[in-house]
Amino acid sequence: MQPTPVTIIGGGIGGLTLANALQHHNIPFELYEQAPELSDVGAGIGLSEAPIRLLEKLGLAGLLREKGTHLKRVHMPDKQLNIRRTIEAASEMIVIHRARLIDILKHTLPAGSIHLSKKIVSVDALQDESILRFDDGTKLTAPVTVAADGIKSVIRQQLLPGIPIRYINQTIWRGISDAPLPDEFRDSYLEIWDERLRFLALPYENNQSFWLGVKPAPPGGEDNPKTIIDELLDLFQNFHPDLKELIRTSGPVLRNDMADIGTQKRPWYKNRVLFLGDSIHATTPNLAQGGCQAIEDAWCLAKLLKKYPDDFQIACRRYQQLRQKKVMKIVADSWQFGKASHSKNPLFHYGFRLALTRAPEYFIRRQEAFLNDLSYLDRI
Ligand SMILES: Cc1cc2nc3c(=O)[nH]c(=O)nc-3n(C[C@H](O)[C@H](O)[C@H](O)COP(=O)(O)OP(=O)(O)OC[C@H]3O[C@@H](n4cnc5c(N)ncnc54)[C@H](O)[C@@H]3O)c2cc1C
Repeated sequence: MQPTPVTIIGGGIGGLTLANALQHHNIPFELYEQAPELSDVGAGIGLSEAPIRLLEKLGLAGLLREKGTHLKRVHMPDKQLNIRRTIEAASEMIVIHRARLIDILKHTLPAGSIHLSKKIVSVDALQDESILRFDDGTKLTAPVTVAADGIKSVIRQQLLPGIPIRYINQTIWRGISDAPLPDEFRDSYLEIWDERLRFLALPYENNQSFWLGVKPAPPGGEDNPKTIIDELLDLFQNFHPDLKELIRTSGPVLRNDMADIGTQKRPWYKNRVLFLGDSIHATTPNLAQGGCQAIEDAWCLAKLLKKYPDDFQIACRRYQQLRQKKVMKIVADSWQFGKASHSKNPLFHYGFRLALTRAPEYFIRRQEAFLNDLSYLDRI
């Protein structure tokens, strides 16, 4: 039986990985992206072992390893860079420029299957097909649609109303610095807490660094690009000069209000439309797992569409059954971690930091094993 063609909405990490996975299984696809080109913001992204193993199956891990930087350990120093805890990585971790990752994901795809400047504005999810309408006035009828259109998904808002974006009241700034990390941290990931602030720093390509700073703040704030570096230097004024140097030597600084779409039960499909990645399980970035989970969704879904070419409903049900438990635990843990990291209660906050720096090794390895576990895919 001929496989049913898949229409993918969204050319981010999830949509592009799905395109690669469908191609791997000889399932035809067309991808529609609202932006005039496939790219991503100027920042880094960390990938853990599980998505790297899946990208390996797609023949993409070689380039990922070549273009990315391996992280060998996590240090938890205080704000003066006195190390309180070091955890050696037991599995592969890579940080890579987001645009570089998108380049890797798109380079294998036939240009004719990617349609740019196509913003979907509405969808009718009928029993046997969907009618998709774009902002340029065109429409198409699709037998299978995958909504990979991110946390603000128009398709989710129309088909699954009542799943609001949930803000954690924390703002995160990100920048790429021309300054390297101090020599002793060149292959390490630094996670630093001070009172209600967090600062993370990672090595980056060409001797650069990637940093993130977080503070409690209501959503909706805006930065003045001319003054934001000075404001962040002021915010992190008590931090080690080497860390402030990362901020001082940064290119454009990105700002996000941290958010997810909660953990309440929801279907992951409606009629002939499936959801993937942030559109159905956006998570706060505290565990650096949103993109990793979108990659796992993509591999799992393509494998199911291959296995059940003539029973779409079974593929949908199995997809949700197999993916939802792991992802929802990550969303919940990430939210709790964010809340605890910036708790208003100084005693609780102190206790949380102490627990993290003293957490038994087996606890950390158990969490790592959970994130790296792909055994559920063997059930397909
Ligand atoms: C500060 C921060 C740090 C993070 N760090 C990490 C990390 O280290 N590791 C990690 O794994 N994850 C991280 N994440 C999460 C990660 O970025 C997301 O989970 C991931 O990008 C989700 O991929 P996606 O393809 O589902 O959605 P997106 O990347 O949001 O892609 C959605 C795509 O759909 C397109 N689109 C949207 N609406 C429409 C429309 N109407 N019509 C057509 N196209 C549309 C968009 O233009 C976009 O290209 C971080 C997130 C943040 C905010």
